[in-house]
Amino acid sequence: MPNSIPNSWMPNADMSRIHLHWTAGGHKANSTDIKSYHILVEADGKLVRGIHSIAANAPGASGPRASHTKNANTGAIGVSLCCMRQARERPFNPGPSPMTEPQWKQGLAVLAQLADRYDILVTPTTILSHAEVEPNLNIAQNNKWDIVRLAFDDRFQGPRGVGDQMRAQVATLTGGGAAPAGTGGDDEDFIPNDTKLPRFRVVDVSPSRLNFRRSPGGEKVGSLPERTVVERIGVFGEWWQVRTRLGFVGFVHSGFLRPV
Ligand SMILES: [Zn+2]
Repeated sequence: MPNSIPNSWMPNADMSRIHLHWTAGGHKANSTDIKSYHILVEADGKLVRGIHSIAANAPGASGPRASHTKNANTGAIGVSLCCMRQARERPFNPGPSPMTEPQWKQGLAVLAQLADRYDILVTPTTILSHAEVEPNLNIAQNNKWDIVRLAFDDRFQGPRGVGDQMRAQVATLTGGGAAPAGTGGDDEDFIPNDTKLPRFRVVDVSPSRLNFRRSPGGEKVGSLPERTVVERIGVFGEWWQVRTRLGFVGFVHSGFLRPV
């Protein structure tokens, strides 16, 4: 069970993006780290609050703030994983303080909690790694490579390879919002709109619900309870476009659907 961010660390503020970094330091947050980021995740998953409030980076705020991303700090929350001291990108060597899997998972939980709190959609330009700031936002960043590699898993590489995996996971963690009336419903009385379309059942989300989104990884417009049956209209990588029994069309993460 990941740690939760205390509410007191998340003041009201008009924030539009979250950037995930690593510190390029050791496994614990040091005095430099807490000046640079809003929230730090240590190797064991412990959360450490930075000196500057998230609200200090809101548009229009004056005074000291967390400078975590060159020319892209306004409206941006800086989250950083304490790791990767003396790491090398090529050939890849994570060094003596590699990112740990619990730390990564905790980082994703932090992103999801912040996304919910500040109502930030899960998209490549709103929740992204530092390595994606240059390609996704077109703001130069001096060869920053946090995060193009996961020290414990080499399946995901590169700014977008890691970033897309990050967002897919964050999207499944966000939510809990109420479904629009009739979005889900009992599968018992499900009547297919088109019997040629394959049908799938929502599994493994209980007691939570599966986020139902306007676009792949995009705006959350509802949620589907366990056992809801949907028709699959289209496949967009790991995101599937589906239709519910009352005709709502949206996107869900395919990892929680099983053929009926
Ligand atoms: Zn960074």
